[in-house]
Amino acid sequence: MPPVNETNDQVHWKSDDGVLHDYSAGVVWDSIRPTGDVVNLFVVVWFSKCISHHAFLLWLVMGERLKTHDKMKRWEIHSSMILVCPLCQNCADSHDHLFFGCGFSSGVWSRAKHLFDIRVGNNWKDVVNVLTPVAARRCVSVVVTKIIFTATIYFIWQERNNRIFKKSHRT
Ligand SMILES: [Zn+2]
Repeated sequence: MPPVNETNDQVHWKSDDGVLHDYSAGVVWDSIRPTGDVVNLFVVVWFSKCISHHAFLLWLVMGERLKTHDKMKRWEIHSSMILVCPLCQNCADSHDHLFFGCGFSSGVWSRAKHLFDIRVGNNWKDVVNVLTPVAARRCVSVVVTKIIFTATIYFIWQERNNRIFKKSHRT
């Protein structure tokens, strides 16, 4: 027979370091999941007002994970194809070219910056370097800058793909 006393039973979780915690699924998950270093860029991309599919694309851009022409050349799959940026027709595209080394995309970014009075650099790495230290702030200017930056990246990538795969153009 279990001892009868006045207190209710309680469930606890003992972590690897021997500390006893009140049980919750979150405590257990934090205890058993693999963890890595906190990535500073995380707060630039993911925030409460972000548009998830825009943020996901920006996350890929930051890891230079998009299938751009410079990567396709390395794979030598399309060695017979002439790869030129569909936005400016000048050279093969890459992350640095598309965001915003390309004349077309830099024009879009300049226009967006002007419309929303955003004072940051002219390529995506400069923008990320400026945004990273202030990205956790919840002030309107930082949130708007992150939303506009992320949307600009998204629509430039969308326009690039539409020109390649759908043969449609927008100004
Ligand atoms: Zn271009």
